Amino acid sequence: MKKVMAVNAGSSSLKFKLYEMPEETVICSGIVERIGFEDAIFQIKYNGEKKQIITPVKDHAFAVKLLLDALIENKIIKSYDEIKATGHRIVQGGSYFSGSAIINEDTLWKVRDLIPLSPLHNAAELVGIEAFMKVLPNTPGICTFDTAFHQTMEPEDYTYGIPYQYSEDFKIRRYGAHGTSHKYLSEKGLKYVDGNKAAKMIICHLGSGASITAVKDGKCVATSMGLTPLGGILMGTRTGDIDSSVFNYCVARTGKSAEEIYQEFNKKSGLLGVSGISSDARDIEKAAAEGNKRAILACRLWARRVADFIGQYYVRLKGCDLIIFSAGIGENSSTFRELALREIEEVFNIKIDYELNNKIHGTEALISLPDSKIKVAVIPTDEEVMIARDCYNMLLK
Ligand code: ADP
Repeated sequence: MKKVMAVNAGSSSLKFKLYEMPEETVICSGIVERIGFEDAIFQIKYNGEKKQIITPVKDHAFAVKLLLDALIENKIIKSYDEIKATGHRIVQGGSYFSGSAIINEDTLWKVRDLIPLSPLHNAAELVGIEAFMKVLPNTPGICTFDTAFHQTMEPEDYTYGIPYQYSEDFKIRRYGAHGTSHKYLSEKGLKYVDGNKAAKMIICHLGSGASITAVKDGKCVATSMGLTPLGGILMGTRTGDIDSSVFNYCVARTGKSAEEIYQEFNKKSGLLGVSGISSDARDIEKAAAEGNKRAILACRLWARRVADFIGQYYVRLKGCDLIIFSAGIGENSSTFRELALREIEEVFNIKIDYELNNKIHGTEALISLPDSKIKVAVIPTDEEVMIARDCYNMLLK
């Protein structure tokens, strides 16, 4: 039995989950938020209990020390060297990585080289890796990339119709995201298709950030997110795909800078932008139920865009055996699932047990009826266990 830590670092936060491997038992999990502030929040969940302290945390390395010391205090570990490996989530792996990679100078150079493609994420994730390297200098680590699973796409699926030189010179293409989740779900989904590895799946990871992926033979053939997580379906605060002239036109009409509009397309659009209420599907659902017109429009728009991609991927896959709903909205909201399914059920001859659907919140279930042409399942995702698995398999096995 070996302890492995899965890490997800943001610019001011550090989430972690400690596993006992290879059993995949979660020993504890937690988060340090507001790193860099006097009143940073450190939360740890252990043995069904949640503890929280507010304390100054000057940087990520301090956050790492804080959490490791908490593990010792709570008698979860006796010393730092009980952590045998760390696995770090990295959003952008570009074309360099089609799987996880052991952390060494070459890997770090590539992750750094990719910062321009994902400035919000890769830079912060590197800080997280460096913080662990400082505190645990002899502990090996791996990087797991959100884009890796999508590297099997063909050029016809990832190339944009822009001057080809830009694609080449600036590595502009569809990279996708949430790949670790899509991979996990494609493996979990096998049980609903009798273990048939050639099965055609459409996987809907519908959280605050959302993406849909077409999978065949266990490989990604198409995915909805693009160069960055801004592309694809309508999300909590992101536009999803739009005619790129909308961008120009907004700049021209508002007098705002391109950067300001870009930030608004990332942070003030989607469900939030359309409804004017909230980015959270729960708030939108409530407002829509109370008859708020823009909340109703936001819900319908969301459902149509999900349906658009399912339709597109049905064609791309030349059929579909299984549709999977997952992530915050896909796992928890029977209302949003129903909205999307109502858009596609007739044409695809999908039959849903809506009574059962209404009861499924955060648990796994097959919600389609036996005579449904395509099976539909709700499967909670687990990106961290994939990181812990790669960590164990690549470094400790
Ligand atoms: P991300 O990882 O992109 O932040 P999550 O997968 O955690 O997203 O999903 C978060 C979203 O899930 C919330 O913003 C909320 O909209 C939605 N959500 C969570 N629980 C429910 C629920 N019970 N009903 C509706 N939506 C929910």
